[in-house]
Amino acid sequence: RTVLELAGVHKSFGETEIIRGVDLALIEGERHAIIGPNGAGKSTLFHLISGQLQPTRGTITLDGRQIQGLEPRVINRMGLARSFQITNIFPGHSVFENLRFGILRRYGLQYNFWRRVAQVRRITEETEQLLEELRLLKSRDVLAGELSYSEQRSLEIGMALASDPRVVLLDEPMAGMSREETDYTVGLIRQLTARRTLMIVEHDMDVVFSLSDRVSVLVYGQIIATGTPDEIRANRQVQEAYLGTEVSV
Ligand code: ADP
Ligand code: MG
Ligand code: MG
Repeated sequence: RTVLELAGVHKSFGETEIIRGVDLALIEGERHAIIGPNGAGKSTLFHLISGQLQPTRGTITLDGRQIQGLEPRVINRMGLARSFQITNIFPGHSVFENLRFGILRRYGLQYNFWRRVAQVRRITEETEQLLEELRLLKSRDVLAGELSYSEQRSLEIGMALASDPRVVLLDEPMAGMSREETDYTVGLIRQLTARRTLMIVEHDMDVVFSLSDRVSVLVYGQIIATGTPDEIRANRQVQEAYLGTEVSV
């Protein structure tokens, strides 16, 4: 079953067309990596899907409903969440407060006292459960700004998951991490997305090929190939256009 579908998506900034006709369908439950050289338009594609940007042309469909042009928070409420390439947490608040904020957003604030008493308890429980899944429970009361770099990135992923999305987009979640931190985060992402559909931008080919069910290669705003990791690795066009070249972030 297709969860997310892009059809004929274009995006121009002024005279320059950055996304040049992307067709892509994500199957429910798959982990789908987007790879491609720096400047290919990977982040732009994410902005288009999550509503930060609007396509110049084309349609984006989530669970059968067209979402292009809708506001990010509306798309989020429909079940799609994302992280950003640049960390987006509240450094002056505790880890717990950061996550609770994300979960609160899902429930919305309803000013019925009795309902809120029950909600607060449930939200606290959910927040602590998410903290445990993120392996951050021991840092519950630490200020987010004082976490290690990789813990901050874990929290960032948690912020995206706080809305309990069916579809998650992660833009270079492992950027700047050491080998050990990367391995740790790959395991975390695998676990956290076990029952979700994942679209991930990542440069590290070991990570891409071990984490993904399918891979799409974006070069200058066009997808030149989609396939399993083995198919992508064996694809001559991909090797020439991308895999053979030095990757810069
Ligand atoms: P990637 O994530 O693949 O590295 P981006 O999507 O960030 O690539 O950028 C693709 C191209 O679009 C780059 O050449 C970038 O300079 C350009 N670009 C991105 N955002 C804007 C914008 N708001 N206005 C003009 N050009 C942009
Ligand atoms: Mg880039
Ligand atoms: Mg990018």
